[in-house]
Amino acid sequence: MTHPHILTLEDVGHAFGGFTVLTSVEFAIPAGEIVGLIGPNGSGKTTTLNVLSGLYTATSGKVILDGREITKLPAHKRTEAGLGRTFQNIRLFRTMTALENVVIGAERPGNRLIEESSRAALEERAIAALDFVGLASRANELVTAFSYGHQRLIEIARALAANPTLLLLDEPAAGLNSTEKQSLHNLLERIAASGLTILIIDHDMTLVSNAASHITVLNFGRRIADGESMAVLRHPDVVSAYLGAE
Ligand code: ADP
Ligand code: MG
Repeated sequence: MTHPHILTLEDVGHAFGGFTVLTSVEFAIPAGEIVGLIGPNGSGKTTTLNVLSGLYTATSGKVILDGREITKLPAHKRTEAGLGRTFQNIRLFRTMTALENVVIGAERPGNRLIEESSRAALEERAIAALDFVGLASRANELVTAFSYGHQRLIEIARALAANPTLLLLDEPAAGLNSTEKQSLHNLLERIAASGLTILIIDHDMTLVSNAASHITVLNFGRRIADGESMAVLRHPDVVSAYLGAE
């Protein structure tokens, strides 16, 4: 059975000033799956995610979401089109509660709830997202009262509250202990089971290869491997990229 691709990158390049960090990156994400994006530090993973989410605009190539080209669309329009994300460096409002942070996600432009414009409806949606990640009982606590791992879960809840179709996660397991990683893995599977597609960047190969069906590998801003997870991790170029980097 073949799946339609929810997201496709065609020949994507990115440069900061004259400094090229992505060259001809190509991959396609099948709808409903969890896929991984890995590579040594500085290989261009976060830049790729930023080019997908609209924080950066690709210098060349195309980004296609659900058949629609979004290469030059601003970030908020991509959110509206169903793209959700978290950040490698947590970006929560630290003077606000978990609930207040997640409500901001629920207020996504184009979300039908905004027309209903009832605060209660937004909060209900935010509570449901917090409940999904297991933190609803602590909704009214300040973000700073949560462990690092739980702050990462609040970020995921904020992204989920916008009702995305594709969720982009930049190193969600960074700083988590092994118990937290196991529950993150379970959470990813529950998110995928609810019909979302997930792109996960992470350095934990056990987590990525267990959770993801397919993995794309970057090195020096180029794709060096792509395919079924276990086969990709055994690919000689991938092995030497990691050995060379460590
Ligand atoms: P990764 O997430 O795989 O560790 P990044 O995408 O963050 O890699 O970085 C890829 C390359 O781009 C690195 O060489 C990094 O130094 C460079 N880079 C990232 N962000 C910027 C920026 N805002 N300006 C200039 N160079 C950047
Ligand atoms: Mg990064």
